[in-house]
Amino acid sequence: MYNCRIAMRVLVIGDIHSNLEAFTAVLEDAKVKGGFDAIWFLGDLVGYGPDPGPCIELLRKQKVTAIAGNHDRAAVGMLSLSEFNPYAAQACRWTISKLTHDEHEYLKALPEVLQVEDNTLVHGSLRVPLLEYLLSEEAAMATFSLMKTSICLVGHSHIPFLCHEEQAGCTFYRFPEGSRLSIKSGRWIINPGSVGQPRDGDPRASYLLMDTDIKEVTHYRVKYDIGAVQRKMEAAALPEILAQRLSQGW
Ligand code: ZN
Repeated sequence: MYNCRIAMRVLVIGDIHSNLEAFTAVLEDAKVKGGFDAIWFLGDLVGYGPDPGPCIELLRKQKVTAIAGNHDRAAVGMLSLSEFNPYAAQACRWTISKLTHDEHEYLKALPEVLQVEDNTLVHGSLRVPLLEYLLSEEAAMATFSLMKTSICLVGHSHIPFLCHEEQAGCTFYRFPEGSRLSIKSGRWIINPGSVGQPRDGDPRASYLLMDTDIKEVTHYRVKYDIGAVQRKMEAAALPEILAQRLSQGW
């Protein structure tokens, strides 16, 4: 008898930030790139962008495992706006005014940390789940010391990377676009980058496809209609700087 499991392909995404055009482009592109059986979402569904309700609705329609980000928490009053810069705070107040009771309850119910098989999902880091930017060796080592799984998937910084635990310390790697990478040996912290507001100088939406059985990940970028999002942000009187940054990828 063979214990034969069907390979599970997971679309790993984070930081959608109410950007419906980017989110839709990622779902369509991921289907073309071989498709997926489930979505793991790493927080910040809302904040900054002009479509909080439609993004919540579209995510809920999927077969998704989701956690909360700092913007999701702030949008339901569980995190103080004093944590935000003035533009993010203004966008958050606008988001709060747009959420229906049902959307509010959905965001409120999102957990901060989840374990799925050999993977941990958290927005920032295991040391400070909602707010830490995991970008330094010191921050990565703190999370490795708290991990009970081989893989930890994070968002928050909007910077796509892989980080491998070494005998002493760890090494950060940038993703080559479109190539399959094995994450079978050792332990890894991985950030898929941001769907709705990339900050690595590349304005295209960023996502990962992960095969959880053979433990491989592939990083993809996809263009979307940034102008359409910017026009909606202008119509909603959201801060101009938040619209401009989408074109520049920061
Ligand atoms: Zn974010």
